[in-house]
Amino acid sequence: MYDIIILGSGPSGLTAGIYSVRAGHKTLLIAGTKWGGQLMLTTLVENFPGFPEGIQGPQLMINMRKQAERLGVDIVNTDFTATDFSKQPFKATAGGKTYQGKSIIITTGADSLWLNVPGEKTLRGKGISTCATCDAFFFRNKNVVVIGGGDSAMEEAEVLSHVANKVTIIHRKDSFRASCAMQEKIFANPKIRVIWNKTITKYLGTDKLTGLMLKDVKTGNEKEFKTDGVFLAIGHKPNSTLFKGLDLDEKGYIVRKEVKNEKSLLKYRMATNIPGVFVGGDVADYRYKQAITSAGFGAMAALDASRWLEENGLKN
Ligand code: NDP
Repeated sequence: MYDIIILGSGPSGLTAGIYSVRAGHKTLLIAGTKWGGQLMLTTLVENFPGFPEGIQGPQLMINMRKQAERLGVDIVNTDFTATDFSKQPFKATAGGKTYQGKSIIITTGADSLWLNVPGEKTLRGKGISTCATCDAFFFRNKNVVVIGGGDSAMEEAEVLSHVANKVTIIHRKDSFRASCAMQEKIFANPKIRVIWNKTITKYLGTDKLTGLMLKDVKTGNEKEFKTDGVFLAIGHKPNSTLFKGLDLDEKGYIVRKEVKNEKSLLKYRMATNIPGVFVGGDVADYRYKQAITSAGFGAMAALDASRWLEENGLKN
C-alpha cells in the first residue's frame, strides 16, 4: 500500500515524487517504458533555471530521476494499463501487478501533434520544433514558418517575431480559428505574414531544414518554399484516455477543480472531481506547456495530496 502513486515521469511526476517522499509519504512512481516525457526528445534546454550553460533535455530528466530515487521514490519502468479510482484504496495496474494507493497524482503529460510527412522525424530538432518559447532563440534573424491557425499558432508567431527576421504562418484554410484579439495582433505585426490554403507535403534538407514543399489545397499545385525553421502549432493530445470517472474538457485535458478545504481555509488547486486524485503538468494544462511550469504544478499536486492525506486521517 502506497500513500501516493504518481502516474507519469516527466518533470511534473518526478517533482511530485520528490515533494511526496520529502513530506514522509511512501511513494510509487509508475514511469512507463518510455519514461521522461517530452524533454527526452529535445536537445539543449536553456530555460530551466539552475543550469547557466543550459542542459540537454534527456540529461535534465536523468538528473531529476536520480534525485527522486535517492530520496526514496520507488520507480517502476512499466506502462500502466488500467486504473480504478472508484473506491479507496485506488488501484493502478502496471506490468501485470496491481498497486494500491491512498491518493493518486496524474502527470501523464501531453504529446505534440505532428504532421507525419517525409523528413519530419529526421529533422526534428534540426529546424523543426514544437515550442517557440523553448527554441526561438536559435532562430535569431532567420526566416521561420509557423503551421496552424489556432491560438497556439498566433502565440508562437508573436514570440518568434521578437527574434526572427520574418515569420510566415502557413494555414490549411482561408481563415483562422484563433480568437479575434490574437488574430488582430498578428495582422498588425509587420514581421508576420500569412499564406492561406496550403499544406506541407515534405520537409527539405538532410542534416538541417532548408525548406518545405507546399501544396495548394484548391489547385493541388506544389511549390518549394525556403525557410530556416518550422514551428508546428497544430495542437496537443493529452494522455488521459486510461482514466475512468475523471472529468475531461472537450479536448481531453483533465479538469482541475479548486476544492475548498473544510478544515482550513486553503483550497486544493490541483484536485480533480475525484477526492484524493490530483493532477499536475501538461495533462491538465494547454496554456503554459513548459518544463518549469510542469515541475511547479507537480510540486503543487504533491503538496495538495499530502495535505489531503493528513486531513482525511490517511497519513501514516
Ligand atoms: P487548436 O486545436 O485550437 O488549433 C490547431 C490548429 O492546427 C487549427 O488551426 C488546425 O486547423 C490546425 N491543424 C490541425 N491539424 C493539422 C494538420 N494535420 N495540418 C495542418 N494544420 C492542422 O490547438 P491550439 O494548440 O492552437 O489550442 C489548443 C487550446 O488552447 C485552444 O482551446 C486554444 O484556445 C487554447 N490556447 C489558448 C491560448 C491563450 O489563451 N493565450 C494560447 C494557446 C492555446 P483547422 O483550423 O483547419 O482545424
